[in-house]
Parts: sequence; C-alpha cells; structure tokens
Amino acid sequence: MTGPLSVEARSKQFGAAEGDGIVRCDACPILCRIRPGRAGACARYANENGQLVRTDPVLLLDRAVEQGRPLVPFARQDWDGELLAPASTFVTGVGAGTTYPDYKPAPLIISAQHEGVETVTVVTEGIFSYCDVKVKIDTDRHLGPETAAVRVAGEQVGHVTTAEYGSQMFSIGGVRHLTGGSKKEGNVTCDAMLKLCSAEAVEMTIDGGHTVVVQAGHAPLVDGKPEARMRVGCGSATVGIFAKQWLGHVDEVIVVDDHITGVLTEHQAGKVLGMPPSGVQVAGRKSTPGRYFQVANPGLGWGGTDITDPLAIIRKIDPKVARPGLRLLMTSTTGEDAFYCTLDEQLKPVEAEMPAAVRAVVERIGENCEPSLCSVLFVAGAGGSLRAGVTENPVLLTRSVAAGETRVTLGGAPAYHWPGGGITVMVDVTRMPRNSFGYVPTPAIVAPIEFSMPRKLYERLGGHAGAIVSIDDMLRSLAAEARVEPWAAANPWPHRGG
Ligand code: SF4
Repeated sequence: MTGPLSVEARSKQFGAAEGDGIVRCDACPILCRIRPGRAGACARYANENGQLVRTDPVLLLDRAVEQGRPLVPFARQDWDGELLAPASTFVTGVGAGTTYPDYKPAPLIISAQHEGVETVTVVTEGIFSYCDVKVKIDTDRHLGPETAAVRVAGEQVGHVTTAEYGSQMFSIGGVRHLTGGSKKEGNVTCDAMLKLCSAEAVEMTIDGGHTVVVQAGHAPLVDGKPEARMRVGCGSATVGIFAKQWLGHVDEVIVVDDHITGVLTEHQAGKVLGMPPSGVQVAGRKSTPGRYFQVANPGLGWGGTDITDPLAIIRKIDPKVARPGLRLLMTSTTGEDAFYCTLDEQLKPVEAEMPAAVRAVVERIGENCEPSLCSVLFVAGAGGSLRAGVTENPVLLTRSVAAGETRVTLGGAPAYHWPGGGITVMVDVTRMPRNSFGYVPTPAIVAPIEFSMPRKLYERLGGHAGAIVSIDDMLRSLAAEARVEPWAAANPWPHRGG
C-alpha cells in the first residue's frame, strides 16, 4: 500500500533500524531495542520484519449508524475505506502512536471539511507522567479517614480526599506516587491507574479504614459487600424532603447521618408544619435547630456512623415535654435501616410494628436513592511538552484551548478543561472507547488525546502545517488496518457546528 500514511510511512515516523534486524523504538524515553518478532517493554510497539509497528490499530469513530449508513467492517484487508464518509469519521488517538522527542509533529494531523469549515485534528497518544484518577464512590459508609493512605498490594497509590454529597472520594496516582517513592510504588500505582481507567476492578485498602473494590460504572464492594443505594440526602435534607409525608403518622422522626442528623420536630420543616416538640434529644453537637453533627463515630453502620442500635444516639427524653404513647421513627438516609417505637408509661422507647403509612415513606426514601456506583475520572496535564507535537509555539495552543477555540477530546470523549494555566483536562473514562489506555515503564500512563480546531487557526498557532494529511488520503491509506467503532452518540461531535 502506498500513500502518505501507509504502514511503511508510519513505521518511519517511529524507530530506527540497528544491526541484526533490531529496531530501536523511540516512542518514549525507555528506547527499547526490539528484536524481530518481539514487542517492546510496554507491548505497544513491535518489530515486524525489521519495521517498528504499533501493535494496536488506529481507532476511527464513525457516525454512520447515527446517519443511517451501515457501519463498516473491522480491518478488512481488501477494504479501501470507501464506506467511511470523511465528514463523519473521527480519527482518535487510540493506537495512533507517540512521537518522541516532542518537537516532532504528532503522529496524525488530519484535515477535514466539517459544515463548510476546513478543520484540523491533531492526534496522538500522550505519555502522561503528571496524571491521576479521581474516584467517586457512592456510599455513605466511612471507608477511612480523610487524607488516609489508600493502598494496593501494600503500596500507597493515593489517599482519601474530601467527601462529596453522598459519595466518598479518592485521589489515586499522581506524579508523587509515580516518581517520588520506590520503584515498586511507582509500578503498582501505574498499574492501578491503568486498571481503573480501563474499567477493571481494583481492590484498595485504606489505612485505619476498610477494603473497597472499585470498578468504573459498577457498585463498590465494601469489605466484600456490594453497596446498593446512594443516599437520598443528608439527615437534614431527608427530613426536609419527607416531613409532610410523615405528618399525622408519627410524632418524631430522627434521620441518622454521620454528618448532619435531622430531628423533625426541632427542624424548620417540622416547625413550619406546626409539629409540637417531642422531648427526644439526640447526642452530638447542635448546629442549627434540628440539625446535629457528630451524633456517633464514623463507621459502616446506620447513615455512615458506627451505630447498629439507633437508640444509642438518644441522649435524653425530656419528661417535661415527652408523653407516653409518642410515636418515634428512626431511619438511615437510605431507608435501608429503620426502627419504629412508641414511648411507654416510663417514657422508655418500646419497639413496635411499623404502621403501613410510615413504612411507605421509609420505602419512598429507598425509592429515591440512586444506585450506588463508582465513577473514575482521568485527570492529565497536557500543558507540557506534548504541545510541541501540535505547534512550534506551545503557549498559543494553551491560550486557544483556554479560550474554547480548540477542543480537546480523549478518544473522542469530551474533556473538562481546568481554568488557569496549562492544559489540565479531566475525562470520564466510561465515555472513552475500550482499550484506550496504556502505559510505559518510565512509569507513566498513555492516553489518546486529540486537538480539533479550524485549519486557519491551526496555522495561526504555528502548527505543523507541512505534516497535515487530508482525511481522504488517511482513510485510503490506513482504513484497512484501522479499527472502526460507532461514534458514542452521547459525546458531542468535536467539530464546530457538528
Ligand atoms: S516502552 Fe514501549 S513506547 Fe517505550 S520505547 Fe519501549 S516499546 Fe517504545
């Protein structure tokens, strides 16, 4: 096959022939010397008959199905790309390869017409030493103290960071664990990040906490037990949401929560509904009326506390206010734990059968919980030398991305660009194609990245205009060796007006 991007031409972009058929891969600083028929240390490059080849095919995303055309076959040897419409084909960085050192133009710089505008997409596989993974685990349960070390196979790979609303958060990876500790710490960290980004399950233990298995898009396993529900809200919010539905069926409701426990009759919601005080007082520190902090210790029990007996958080039942027969409901923020009782003549709580109307509201709390999931967001700094493969004047690219003129995607998935300096992007790994990520043993993570912009802008940015190849030529040359998948309809088309 001939053409500007034939296999032969692409192989010349990477690597140098040495004696005895050995090829030196220069796609990363490891500079593997690869014997014929063998692969390099990362398995991403191999020596095929004396030529260095990328072992995975380039991934093309096709909007055919969306546009009513049949999807093209995968890597058919006799296929010349004819069925792919250039205007609806997106060339991803998956399998594109990496040029190193960075001053070389990126492996693929593709021009195409989109809605009458000539665009350029610069496509590469970035090698990210500065990258990490933010993990969101939808559970109330206390997995470990904030800032505690998160370990895989005994090595610290990250830490517990600030909890969000209904979710525990981990920060995994980052340059300090990749480069700042022992070789083993770096390798285990890299491997954990690669698995998390590839939506594989990773078991982690938290110092002073528990074991959790995290897998993007799946429920977490806490100490081997799958989590089912993400809470409806904090204890105070739960009181606020359901107060009216409890009115007339109970005299007091306590929603147990490690952060903000709600007490209905003291809460503004109960007051507005005209509910009289119950005299049931909870432990902990009062924040505002009906909202209590620290009613117990954090744990795997009710509402992320360590309690299994809800009555343990009742500090006092005031005999001047409480009355025999008072109906009390205690529930967790997911409705998974609930306890109903009445006060006897001595004002002692006595468990009783939960009335159907009260049960219905507890069930509604459960109904309003979303499924508990793990989310994995890959965060990477593309603000460094990778930019030189795009333009000779990297700061212009940074400014263009910041201004929103150049769109950044990872495997076609939209990336959130952090404000401020550099090009720090964050992407949901489940929106990216499968097998998007790789690694090199430096250690660092390899991820696809694409910069899309109008051609005129690319030229103004000092882009490598001489390396631009039209999508028609690219498809003719590479389609037979490409992997073709449908464009993910939920992802916005990266080109203007798309
Ligand atoms: S580790 Fe991979 S990318 Fe780096 S030189 Fe070796 S084969 Fe090439």
